[in-house]
Amino acid sequence: MRDKKILMVDLVGQYEKIKDEINQNIINSLQEGKFINGPIVKEFSQNLSNFLNVNHVIPCANGTDALQIALMALGLKQGDEIICPSWSYISTAETAILLGIKPVFCDVDRNTFNMSAENVEKLINNKTKAIIPVHLYGQSCDMEPILKLALKHKLKVIEDNAQSIGSEYTFSNGDKKHTGTMGDIGTTSFYPTKNLGAYGDGGAVFTNDDKLAKKLIMIANHGESKKYHHKIIGCNSRLDSIQAEVLNIKLKYLSDYNKARNQIAENYNKAFSSVEKLHIPVLNNNSTHVYHQYTLRVHPLYRDPLRLYLKAKGIDNRIYYPIPLHKQKVFSKIVDSTYNLPNTNLLSATCLSLPIHTEVENSFQKYIIDNVLNFFK
Ligand SMILES: *Cc1c(COP(=O)(O)O)cnc(C)c1O
Repeated sequence: MRDKKILMVDLVGQYEKIKDEINQNIINSLQEGKFINGPIVKEFSQNLSNFLNVNHVIPCANGTDALQIALMALGLKQGDEIICPSWSYISTAETAILLGIKPVFCDVDRNTFNMSAENVEKLINNKTKAIIPVHLYGQSCDMEPILKLALKHKLKVIEDNAQSIGSEYTFSNGDKKHTGTMGDIGTTSFYPTKNLGAYGDGGAVFTNDDKLAKKLIMIANHGESKKYHHKIIGCNSRLDSIQAEVLNIKLKYLSDYNKARNQIAENYNKAFSSVEKLHIPVLNNNSTHVYHQYTLRVHPLYRDPLRLYLKAKGIDNRIYYPIPLHKQKVFSKIVDSTYNLPNTNLLSATCLSLPIHTEVENSFQKYIIDNVLNFFK
């Protein structure tokens, strides 16, 4: 019936819809000739800071660098410890290791996939200097208790917001804040498949702290205070003007993109909620969701057979993540036998992400839904 495979993302399909605008702006940038940190980079940063309601958006080369720059700006050093979830992408812990900082992995909630203050508190000791909550798959961690805990123990908070840009968290007093703007520093990635994706690498750090912003700007550009005056050690992590052109256009559509993702998630939820062997994603009731991933939990005996079944039907699907960080070989030296992360282990055996992006048409959604339901019939 259909000869087109359904992919996890369709970046070309998305590009086709905004092609004229993108092409024109890229050509303008090429003719301007300011290929790195051109005026468009500033313009995009300003627009993103308005969108997120945060004082400073400092662009950099990718989301991994953003985390490293954040750790450097907060003055974390060799021997310090950070607490981050094991259920995340490698970058969250990799950057710490590069700076001689020890990542300590906490468990996550099996329903929301996110860390909680309770998971973190057990791991705090006198070497702990920072917490890195990761807002996974598109919704916020429960930040209020995490921020309280950080305050109590004088810990810094770096939010890894690579997957949840545009998501909003509501505090108990009714205040709403965007993910990435609640801690000392927020980081994000503009990797092409992220909700706000460039056509190459890109990233940014956010902060409301003016002093910290100055430091972040310097670190992202060789520790330079002014041209050829280097005050501190930094790195070379800047955003290309062409990527900023793309991002500046896509930012205008981000809310619509996120709405489209929510609509698809709603259709999936409706169809799958009655399937006994499936758990649909659980919403944290004080966060909105931007569905970077639509992730089901599948009964462990059925997860891999379902994957193969869907693949045979031309439906792409993924496990984010097949190996949690605490089981990665690279971290075997810092992870000992006392590690006990039952929810994380369970998730790696039960998670399954289905295609969700701005171009999953209704007929594709129906095809995906029908096939999942057929499998469980
Ligand atoms: C994608 C991602 C990153 C890394 O971003 P890059 O731009 O690929 O370096 C970091 N953390 C999380 C949770 C991510 O999903």
